[in-house]
Parts: sequence; structure tokens; C-alpha cells
Amino acid sequence: MITIALSKGRIYKETLPLLAAADIVPTDDPEKSRKLILDTNHDDVKLVIIRATDVPTYVQFGAADLGVAGKDVLLEHGGEGLYEPLDLKIAKCKLMTAGLIDPKPRVSGRLRVATKFTNVAKRYFESRGEQIELIKLYGSMELGPIVGLSDLIVDVVDTGNTLKANGLKPVDHIADISSRLVVNKASMKMKHEKISHIIDKISSAVS
Ligand code: AMP
Repeated sequence: MITIALSKGRIYKETLPLLAAADIVPTDDPEKSRKLILDTNHDDVKLVIIRATDVPTYVQFGAADLGVAGKDVLLEHGGEGLYEPLDLKIAKCKLMTAGLIDPKPRVSGRLRVATKFTNVAKRYFESRGEQIELIKLYGSMELGPIVGLSDLIVDVVDTGNTLKANGLKPVDHIADISSRLVVNKASMKMKHEKISHIIDKISSAVS
């Protein structure tokens, strides 16, 4: 059995043609079905549909052999127990710091940064030798600087329209982001033939 972890929405839609290139076609549509495990045209290949941030965890612990996750999610997770053999070059964006277009005085002594990417933010500001106060949020990070919760946010940015619409601007570039294929390290050894076949087919479809 090969289990592939995917999240709904953009990653799912953009991964479907890549899976099809490896002759893997789901028999259900996760946007229409409430099923969390989808069958495919192969009895021994299943898809598990989970939250994007849970994909590395499922693959790390072997609950899924393969998965597709954004580099932002992988950087935040840390990548333990995972191989990252392929850049799928889909769902591209950038991880950035952002602040008010018209900056206000600091909200407290130390620079305050609000984000759901706390591990990424901690590493980034440490690497620059900057002491910060981190505030963990789970969404709508753009509000942070507007309501005086933080000076900066760390978030993914595509066109920058969301920032602009909220009176924010990108400040510093942290990393270029795209979705990656990840593989459980033990599965890569135990199911090498099947998994490397899937990687090869997807790799050809990407390039
Ligand atoms: P934009 O207004 O085009 O800069 O898009 C910004 C918002 O869209 C972000 O706050 C994210 O929630 C979301 N977004 C855009 N691209 C991606 C991506 N590749 N992965 C995850 N979220 C994204």
C-alpha cells in the first residue's frame, strides 16, 4: 500500500495532473466528498486529505508514505524524518516580513513579530542577531500591525494585494516558496521500487 497525503484547495488541484502523470487518479473529488481517505484507480494507492500544516507530520510518522507540502510549511515543521526529493514548482509565493506602509513607533521595547510561522521567524531574526518578541497567531496576521499587536508580521505573499489592502508593505524576503514532494525516510527504503517510480513520473511531468 502507498498512502499519499494532500491538502484540499490549490495544492490538491495543482497536484492532480502530476499524479495523473504517474497514472494515479482519485475516484472521488475531495471538494465534493467528506471522505478523508480517497481511493484511486489502483487498489494499493490511497490519498489522505488533511490540513496543509499536518502533511509533514503524517509523512514524518509514516502515516503517509508521500505527501505534498508548501516549503513554508516544511520550514516551519523542520523536515525531521522526511526526504524532499522534488520541487513541484507549484503554488509559488514568498515568505516575507511585512509592516505598516506608514510605520508607527514600536509597540513595546523589543521588536514584536506576529506570525503563525514562529519557528521560521525565530530562526530568521536570530540569524540577523535581532532580539524579538514573538506572538503566535493562527490567521489574519495582517491585522497585527494595524491594531498595535505587533510591529511586523511574517507571512506568505503572492501578489502583495492582501498586504496593500490592509495598509501593509513587504519589508524583507525570507524564502522563495513552492510545493515539494516529501517522502517518509523508512518508506523510501521499504517501498523503494514503487516510490521511486512515482517520483520519476512526477519529476518528468514537472520538467
Ligand atoms: P496575495 O494577496 O496575492 O499576496 O496573497 C496573499 C495571501 O494568499 C496570503 O496571506 C496567503 O494566505 C495566500 N497565499 C498566496 N499564495 C499562497 C501559497 N502559494 N501558499 C499558501 N498561501 C498562499
